[in-house]
Amino acid sequence: MGLAWYMGSGPQRRKRSGKDVGSRHDRAAKPRQDGVPVSDRILRPFRNDAHSCLRSRLVPRAARAQLAIAQGANIRPTSTELSKEILPHVPDASTPVIEVSDLHKSFGPLEVLRGVSMAAPKGHVVSLIGSSGSGKSTLLRCINLLEDSQQGGIIFEGEPISWRGEGANRRPADRIQVTRIRTNLSMVFQQFNLWAHLTILQNVMKAPVTVLKRNRADVEDAARRYLERVGIGDKCDAYPAQLSGGQQQRAAIARALCMEPRALLFDEPTSALDPELEQEVVKVIKSLAEEGRTMLLVTHDMTMARDVSDHVLFLHEGRIEEEGSPDALFDAPRTERLRQFLSHVRAA
Ligand code: ADP
Ligand code: MG
Repeated sequence: MGLAWYMGSGPQRRKRSGKDVGSRHDRAAKPRQDGVPVSDRILRPFRNDAHSCLRSRLVPRAARAQLAIAQGANIRPTSTELSKEILPHVPDASTPVIEVSDLHKSFGPLEVLRGVSMAAPKGHVVSLIGSSGSGKSTLLRCINLLEDSQQGGIIFEGEPISWRGEGANRRPADRIQVTRIRTNLSMVFQQFNLWAHLTILQNVMKAPVTVLKRNRADVEDAARRYLERVGIGDKCDAYPAQLSGGQQQRAAIARALCMEPRALLFDEPTSALDPELEQEVVKVIKSLAEEGRTMLLVTHDMTMARDVSDHVLFLHEGRIEEEGSPDALFDAPRTERLRQFLSHVRAA
């Protein structure tokens, strides 16, 4: 790609007294792209060579970042860009935090999501149930933009994800948007995914300090508060290996909370735990639901799904086969597939 899009219609020079006026004297008149002053003198040598432009210290950093994003380069946004973009905006209270419409996702020839539509309104807990392989984790990962999807829309607080390319080539178009959305949707995984070489406190502080560039002292205060909140305030200086599975998962929840996300995404948070440890995590999840947090919860634990959810989705072979209130779904399933699924999990 050339630099034409970035430089507008090319060198912009004004004639004054019949003489070309050089860029050195008319800085204020230079064309701007998204607020970045574009100096023809600076960009001229790079007109047909975006790679040199990206490497050159002569080009302003923000301009290089924009160019890199437009080219799909795998760059991390600068802290200035992030802090600008992550400033909270106030969506309408009725705007769902997450909306998905007709989402399709394939791994090669295997179509895993076959037109999923759903919404997680603010303050609601939406649970996703379904047998193994039905696409629950894939749906969470697509929402969090950890996986690309090939068709359909994902809308975060009223803001649609912008895409470039189509089908198998479809990718998110705006890396800053991806980072903003990912950092606002904190994910808790089945296997905790804590850094083994960091203490629990350092684990919780890491992303807010390194990704969001928040003030370290403020983050430490918040991290200690969240660890207290999940009942392991005394484990700040321990390493993950020194904790039980239930304590590690609670640390992972504190880590997710410390990002101050708009919504929490849980992927089978209790399924790697022994039954007695499972309950301590269930208790934390229930208390977060009571606090009015927006959550999308994939779980095999039907009791928890029933207790905490406002809405339950039953996913079967990549489609939402049935959905409704927990009472309706668990007491009066309408489809044979849900009836079968429930009888299997109840028997297990
Ligand atoms: P669930 O979480 O409901 O058990 P998943 O979303 O993990 O199901 O998987 C749905 C289907 O997608 C499964 O058939 C699985 O094998 C397949 N799948 C998941 N991840 C990948 C991957 N990275 N590559 C290929 N196939 C995958
Ligand atoms: Mg899964």
